[in-house]
Amino acid sequence: MNGNDLTTFSDLGLAESLLRAVAAEGYETPTAIQVAAIPHGLAGHDLIGIAQTGTGKTAAFVLPMLQRLAAEATKPEPKSCRALILAPTRELAAQILDCIRAYSKFMKLTATLVVGGVKPGPQIAAMARGVDILVATPGRLLDHMGAGAARIDQVRSVVLDEADQMLDLGFMPAIRRILAKTPKVRQTQLFSATMPPAIRALANDFLKNPKEVQATPVSRPIERITQKVIATAAEDKRAVLTEILKTEAKGRTIVFTRTKHGADRVTKHLNAAGLSAVAIHGNKSQNQRTRALDGFKSSETRILVATDIAARGIDVDGIEHVVNFELPNVPEVYVHRIGRTARAGADGIAITLCDPMERKLLRDIERLIGRTLLQDGHAPNVESPRPAQQKPDGRNKPAAARNRRRKSSPRRMSDAA
Ligand code: AMP
Repeated sequence: MNGNDLTTFSDLGLAESLLRAVAAEGYETPTAIQVAAIPHGLAGHDLIGIAQTGTGKTAAFVLPMLQRLAAEATKPEPKSCRALILAPTRELAAQILDCIRAYSKFMKLTATLVVGGVKPGPQIAAMARGVDILVATPGRLLDHMGAGAARIDQVRSVVLDEADQMLDLGFMPAIRRILAKTPKVRQTQLFSATMPPAIRALANDFLKNPKEVQATPVSRPIERITQKVIATAAEDKRAVLTEILKTEAKGRTIVFTRTKHGADRVTKHLNAAGLSAVAIHGNKSQNQRTRALDGFKSSETRILVATDIAARGIDVDGIEHVVNFELPNVPEVYVHRIGRTARAGADGIAITLCDPMERKLLRDIERLIGRTLLQDGHAPNVESPRPAQQKPDGRNKPAAARNRRRKSSPRRMSDAA
């Protein structure tokens, strides 16, 4: 989850308005790629970021970009933009724009989208007065440039996101043409999950003395861990967890919850069911935490119920099972969580309880680790205890809408870890 256990967003040198915005999103600590990339971004360095989706890479380039644009306080010229972000797909471009809107909500910056597959008219209109940040897919941007509807000769900052995917989609010639039309003096950041030779060559041609940062490689610790997902209704989770802890996970186990209150509720439930569990989270005093951890290490307590932040720095050998009572919002955090087991060469088992509202989070995790964990709602080897039920109150709304709501919910912010 973190590059450095002690680093906070304010340590990274971010402006107050951005700190408020990330807090409003419910982000508490920067991810590893954010810790590594943001200071370079703020300093105006060119940057190569090796990171895939799910690591928090969007904020890693958007936050410094916003700060630098706000500090310059110049206005974009008509049809022009001050910063350009190129993305391989319409969907990714739209997601980046969503992030920009969220992170810049306490700033006065404008941003728009220029992507293929939709009518060009509204995009031309949106560009007419100029924008601070343009998020574009390469083909449509070239169309607009050719038609005189968009100019990039004033751009001071360029980001190429998912460069390897742009390569796969055949966008390299377009990218090169676009970059060649940007001013020589500019900051260029390139993000890519992999670094094939063609991307290296692109970086060599268009980046100046780039700093290189990398999100922690995620695949290695996972190999020795058996991963299981149990599809369950949210209201059945506690009963399913109790069952798992009584039948399967009988050794030293960490249960992860998303919130402090969740950790307390789960612990109470487990204690009532006769299981020896202790909660560890940010509302506990240092003394309580130390005692909980000592009890866990000495096997006096078999089950530790933890939030992500509280679990940082917990380095206990012999954890046989990690149970995700709830899925984390950042896919990378899943890898960190399950990495608590399988320490020191041992094998481990990770069991994740996934309710229908968490399916999108699960898909993001599967994309990050490159493995399917749940097929058609059923994990191999694992029985679904009860089919997930449709909620009468519409809680089964599309995952994207739910995520957005959850992220911006002030309750989650104060409730988290
Ligand atoms: P990305 O890798 O940029 O696609 O981000 C993956 C997910 O992590 C997105 O849903 C972000 O909103 C979320 N995210 C990014 N940074 C953080 C953070 N520091 N803390 C919590 N969530 C984050």
